[in-house]
Amino acid sequence: MSTRIGITGAAGRMGRNLMLAVGEHTDASLGAALERQDNPFIGHDAGELAGSGRMGVALQDDVDSALQGLDALIDFTAPEATARHADLCARAGVPLVVGTTGLDTAHLDALQKAAATIPLVYAANYSAGVTLALRLIADAARALGDDYDVEIIEAHHRHKVDAPSGTALRMGEVVAETLGRDLARDAVYGREGQTGVRDSRTIGFETIRGGDIVGEHTVMFAGLGERIEITHRASSRMTFARGALRAALWAVTQPPGLYDMEDVLGLKRSG
Ligand code: NAD
Repeated sequence: MSTRIGITGAAGRMGRNLMLAVGEHTDASLGAALERQDNPFIGHDAGELAGSGRMGVALQDDVDSALQGLDALIDFTAPEATARHADLCARAGVPLVVGTTGLDTAHLDALQKAAATIPLVYAANYSAGVTLALRLIADAARALGDDYDVEIIEAHHRHKVDAPSGTALRMGEVVAETLGRDLARDAVYGREGQTGVRDSRTIGFETIRGGDIVGEHTVMFAGLGERIEITHRASSRMTFARGALRAALWAVTQPPGLYDMEDVLGLKRSG
């Protein structure tokens, strides 16, 4: 039997790609397409948004009642909405996959709380390539140590509302965890004016916003006489959508808990 997937933020850039990903997967079916009450497509067939054929599911706004007919929910919306959806999923006992970035401590607490009751996957990036890049970044930081300066450069489309990207921050956290640093203290966001010489403990972030760039990240390890760059470039949102769907199909088989994409891909290493 196919797994019934609900999608919140269905009219958004990721929502439309998620519906296409569900449509192309033999083990999944679209159980609900959800949006804000004021969305002009409410009542229209989801296929109109996805740019595919008719899907037989109308866009609607009632997450609570939709959850009764779902096996899993995928949420790429906005932080406040995501926290609310986590609470509703926990009450309904429906596994949740969260892709929303820009979450603050209160939002993350809401996810943690829901994960006591349901399987909940949260990743700042659902592509297999970025998940692997995080491993490579940890290996590079471990091998190069404090002698190499770490700078993280990311680029996204003009509509993105948070900066640096959740993926860039996750990359910074991986470097900080590996080198025993604290991102809250050691991160430097953009530079301007009389900055003084570079403090070797800092992890620098540079943000580029423009056009239709889907998502690009480079972590640069700059030493004396050489530098190493680990770069990931996403050219289609379908890579995130397929990864999030894979996470949802995995989550429905798991006990309650907070998971990430490494868990989904079976990449977690002990110690
Ligand atoms: P978008 O603005 O195109 O879509 C977001 C959708 O969510 C909109 O249609 C909006 O109406 C809806 N929404 C907002 N608040 C809502 C609410 N209260 N209730 C119901 N629906 C609501 O944005 P996007 O480009 O699709 O990105 C969405 C989020 O996903 C962002 O946080 C982005 O950074 C993140 N993202 C994550 C990944 C990943 O792999 N984790 C990849 C791409 C984007």
